[in-house]
Amino acid sequence: LVRGLEALRDLPCETLDRHRVPLWVNTGLMADVVRSLERGAEGVGLYRTEIPFLLRDRFPSEEEQRLIYREQLEAFAPHTVTMRTLDVGGDKSLSYFPIEEENPFLGWRGIRVTLDHPEIFLAQVRAMLKASEGLHNMRIMLPMVSSVSELEAAKTLIYRAFHELLEEGFHLELPPIGVMIEVPAAVYQARELAARSDFLSVGSNDLTQYLLAVDRNNPRVADLYQPFHPAVLRALHQVVRDGHSQGVSVGICGELAGDPAAAVLLMAMGYDVLSMNATNLPKVKKVIRSISLEQAEQLLDEVMAQEDEASINRCLERSLGSGL
Ligand code: PEP
Ligand code: MG
Repeated sequence: LVRGLEALRDLPCETLDRHRVPLWVNTGLMADVVRSLERGAEGVGLYRTEIPFLLRDRFPSEEEQRLIYREQLEAFAPHTVTMRTLDVGGDKSLSYFPIEEENPFLGWRGIRVTLDHPEIFLAQVRAMLKASEGLHNMRIMLPMVSSVSELEAAKTLIYRAFHELLEEGFHLELPPIGVMIEVPAAVYQARELAARSDFLSVGSNDLTQYLLAVDRNNPRVADLYQPFHPAVLRALHQVVRDGHSQGVSVGICGELAGDPAAAVLLMAMGYDVLSMNATNLPKVKKVIRSISLEQAEQLLDEVMAQEDEASINRCLERSLGSGL
């Protein structure tokens, strides 16, 4: 197995007709970094900064955060690392910052929390910016954005932190700032959000849950959590078109990108980056290397013509086989 992984690691991720698809990884711990580099990851599409926050019993200081972020950025340099700002609330709550709500997935989470607590956001962004000094490989990504005004408010805070640090003598460049598309409202405003940012990245875990109104962690409705539902695929397709119409790169960093059949469809839709759990990277690379872009586009046309997820699954099974 290890030898197979090594051989695959050094092969490019490209289709039979030489279309390149960058495979990136989602990380949160330093252990993920080692696994990712072993599997030939070409960047980090999602670094979940809340993970180091979850492992502590109080908010990490700006300096503690700087050290953690620096380690991630250095480990991947010169590859890009996409640092997501704190995404707590929903199913992720900090013992030292409890949020109790009837309906946490529709409540105070992600950017909503950090815009209400600019001191938390500013300390985090300052730590990220300081950590990136001299490395030029960081991007900042905002979770749970549901309106243009949230993006504008977050950008204002990022600019403020950036200018403060320039005045303090740091040598910095402004990193690309991107938006996660994981709330249905953001799908319908992808164009406007793209026009005001440097990249989009779909969070398909939350987007699927919110589009289908199915809790992503509730076993009772797990059968209804269908990322191949035509409504989800249509939304995913629309986001790429709208992002590209504004000239920005569009990636995906939900679990779906690590599913080989989905990866083929996402590539055909035009996704610029697929970011996944490192475990899934080799099998996604394998399937992409076994197909041409043209075949993938034909399959996408066929899939998009179906009216329910059962026929979509049959289509995928027929074309890609049960080896997936
Ligand atoms: C997502 O929602 O798809 C995502 C990548 O973020 P998280 O799983 O951390 O909510
Ligand atoms: Mg999410």
